[in-house]
Amino acid sequence: MKAVTYQGKRKMEVKEVRDPKLETKQDVLVRITSTAICGSDLHIYNGEIPGMYDDYVVGHEPMGIIEEVGPEVRHVKKGDRVIIPFNVSCGECFFCKHQMESQCDNANEAKDTGGYLGYSNSYGGFMGGQAELLRVPYGNFMPFVIPENAEMEDEKLLFLSDILPTAYWSVINGGVKPGDTVIILGCGPVGLLAQKFAWQKGAKRVIAIDHVPYRLAHAKRTNNVEVFNFEEYGADFSDHIKEITGGGGDVVIDCVGLDAKKSMIEKIETTLKLQGGSLSAFELAAKVVRKFGTIQVTGVYGLTYNMFPFGHLFERNITIKTGQAPVIHLIPELYLQIKHGKIDPTDIITHRLGLEQAEHGYSIFDNKEEDCIKVILKP
Ligand code: NAD
Ligand code: ZN
Repeated sequence: MKAVTYQGKRKMEVKEVRDPKLETKQDVLVRITSTAICGSDLHIYNGEIPGMYDDYVVGHEPMGIIEEVGPEVRHVKKGDRVIIPFNVSCGECFFCKHQMESQCDNANEAKDTGGYLGYSNSYGGFMGGQAELLRVPYGNFMPFVIPENAEMEDEKLLFLSDILPTAYWSVINGGVKPGDTVIILGCGPVGLLAQKFAWQKGAKRVIAIDHVPYRLAHAKRTNNVEVFNFEEYGADFSDHIKEITGGGGDVVIDCVGLDAKKSMIEKIETTLKLQGGSLSAFELAAKVVRKFGTIQVTGVYGLTYNMFPFGHLFERNITIKTGQAPVIHLIPELYLQIKHGKIDPTDIITHRLGLEQAEHGYSIFDNKEEDCIKVILKP
């Protein structure tokens, strides 16, 4: 089959690789009809995720048609149209049974964290879904069967695999409630969808921050949020945000994570210089959250990030919440929201490419070229 493979830092190659096969009695094989490139894939692309090796098949936002099921699979059958969530989850352990599927006890033998599709040996070693075929473990729990194979096009449903529930979880886990001022860092796909859910949960004010003009313009146009380009301000940027909000955001959602464009050394240097506009997203979040506020960190940080402003957070009673989103239990509810027109995630899609054009997709998504926001690949 054809698949998008990692070939070292900033090199993704579409290659012919061996078809996946069922490996356990509960596996299923899915023929992929649509799959997307995620901001999390950019961390792999930029060499930030340990445990990657050449020819590793990437991708964790797929949907498709069940092609084959293992002998113990009862939940799906050949021909079912399914969404495959990025959390690898057994459905049986304490965490899976308590809506914490992103920390399944049986998804990562390497260490005590969850496992994810297409996300390296550090997170379970499962091959990914930017491919023609995907092996999915735990076929009785992971696939979400689209009710009655509903006729909605793939584009409306594809983001149920990750970024739609991730954005939703960011808002509910961050504790956004009616009347809140919510500050969202990053106007990528995750930040843009989180803006929609912040309004939905009753925020009175939603402020979006980024430094890519076309993304800020998109946020303003489609989500009616207040936008700020931090590069247009100097070191007093966070003071400005605190001033206009009367003390800071009730909830600040970091939808950025590690900025791959800066090396760790550069990052530490800019942090030490304490230049407001050059702060990492987390440090910016720490500056614009109000006393007793919450920072929800949804953006992915590498293990070595250590410029943690702990004293500053302690002395202002800040709550921090973080982690990979447990998406599986949120999919049915969000499916209904899409079906009933309460949310439409399709306005973030800017590029629809064939699987063989994936390299170009990674490049424009990472470099913020061609006004790229979200790339969908069609195997
Ligand atoms: P993206 O790269 O398209 O978006 C990030 C945006 O942040 C970009 O528009 C960039 O210009 C902007 N940015 C960079 N530095 C900034 C700063 N200091 N302040 C404000 N904005 C800044 O990626 P995405 O697909 O939207 O994903 C966003 C993050 O969420 C990534 O780190 C991704 O790995 C993570 N993610 C986490 C989960 C989870 O479950 N926790 C799931 C999906 C994605
Ligand atoms: Zn993702």
